[in-house]
Amino acid sequence: FSTSQTNTIRATLFPGDGIGPEIAESVKQVFNAAKVPIEWEEHYVSSSVDPRTNSFLTWESLESVRRNGVGLKGPMATPIGKGHRSLNLTLRKELGLYANVRPCFSLPGYKTRYDDVDLVTIRENTEGEYSGLEHQVVRGVVESLKIITRHASLRVAEYAFHYAQANGRKRVSAIHKANIMRKTDGLFLTCCREVAEKYPDITYEEVIIDNCCMMLVKNPALFDVLVMPNLYGDIISDLCAGLIGGLGLTPSCNIGEAGIALAEAVHGSAPDIAGKNLANPTALLLSSVAMLRHLKLDDKANRIHDAILKTIAEGKHRTVDLGGKSTTTEFTNEVCDNL
Ligand code: NAD
Repeated sequence: FSTSQTNTIRATLFPGDGIGPEIAESVKQVFNAAKVPIEWEEHYVSSSVDPRTNSFLTWESLESVRRNGVGLKGPMATPIGKGHRSLNLTLRKELGLYANVRPCFSLPGYKTRYDDVDLVTIRENTEGEYSGLEHQVVRGVVESLKIITRHASLRVAEYAFHYAQANGRKRVSAIHKANIMRKTDGLFLTCCREVAEKYPDITYEEVIIDNCCMMLVKNPALFDVLVMPNLYGDIISDLCAGLIGGLGLTPSCNIGEAGIALAEAVHGSAPDIAGKNLANPTALLLSSVAMLRHLKLDDKANRIHDAILKTIAEGKHRTVDLGGKSTTTEFTNEVCDNL
């Protein structure tokens, strides 16, 4: 990782749009209070399209992530209009972000239907139905191509088993619909099986997507690490966020080529509450914790993680989305006090 003269680690920060700058401010405040040795390089979404990226993200901001190898991203609202790429798609393609990792765990003291969720979804991020290959065959008939490659499937399966082993997880479940999509999901499973053979200590299983949804809502404790193609990952990861209380609480991290890690909150820019000091910064704070773990700053990560959980469990300073009355600033101050 790139370090500065003061021996701090440089990381890229995209505060993003809407509530993004407010929750990014919260992360900066908590990092200062915890004395995290990070120096942020901040990049904002530009107001004009950069021809080098064909998007509102500048080339310099992408270079910053490539150089630093690590970053944190707030939500980005894709500007409406034609002739440029979506911001999230630009990041995914330009930085080769091939896996989206989302840990989902029950927050102690915040009651939901389940108390024992502790799972991680790992979503293939580059292909499947999201390859953008759609066309009209004849009037009234359109076609969308689902692309599954051996290269991308092996890469995400390898990451899932590596993640499981590195994090003391016991089981990897490949989620699929290979009984119907024999070739595409069939190839995905073949790749998962190949990788599984290299990890004899980790139990490997295959679960059909529809059955997986039923099992998740009946008993989420049945799952540990789940790996899946793009579309299933998009849906299942939001389902899992719902199991623990919603999008305001769930962190994620995108893993890219050459070891890049770009952590991000799962939710959007929440235009309805932007600028009102009402946003819950938990998801971005927990994403920043994932970033610190990636940097092996485990001490700092654990302290911040525990302070967030304590603040939520105490219940005195919850934000409005969790049924409380606190502002973003009050919640953040309490996390700092709990450090
Ligand atoms: P959203 O996630 O922004 O909002 C959905 C609801 O959840 C809103 O009521 C909002 O107030 C609430 N909410 C979201 N995050 C919250 C938080 N941290 N604290 C409290 N409440 C929170 O979804 P949307 O309205 O469908 O999308 C708004 C914009 O965000 C769109 O432009 C969309 O393209 C963009 N978006 C970006 C990302 C991303 O950058 N990864 C993801 C999803 C949506």
